[in-house]
Amino acid sequence: MADKPAPTEARGRCHCGRVRFVARFPSRFCAHCHCESCRRAHSAGFVTWVGFLSSQVTVESGAGDLAAYESSPGTQRKFCRVCGTKLFFESSRWAGETHVALAAFDEPVDRAPEGNAFFEEHVAWIPWPKEA
Ligand SMILES: [Zn+2]
Ligand SMILES: [Zn+2]
Repeated sequence: MADKPAPTEARGRCHCGRVRFVARFPSRFCAHCHCESCRRAHSAGFVTWVGFLSSQVTVESGAGDLAAYESSPGTQRKFCRVCGTKLFFESSRWAGETHVALAAFDEPVDRAPEGNAFFEEHVAWIPWPKEA
């Protein structure tokens, strides 16, 4: 039997399952973001993002339940208006890209987290390795 071909896409969803999306590979990056805006928007110690061209990300169902919040000028954070799950980040700073929260995926993406953004803003209450 032939090996299964490598996956070419990964699906994900919000907590309640109304908003479902598919992201087609290749992704552009995967990194943990420690900036205060991401941490506060997600109520989390940091947020892990997978970057795609926006044309590679399709909302397959629940587009009507996807709401957007402008967390700073030109930056939109998109979330399910029913359950509140944050899914997407789009910014004029990275025009044409959609950054998808890694934790929202049901299936593996095509790369592992490979770096830290804004690590100088990291919280003190996570025991970081010496060389983060
Ligand atoms: Zn939802
Ligand atoms: Zn951030």
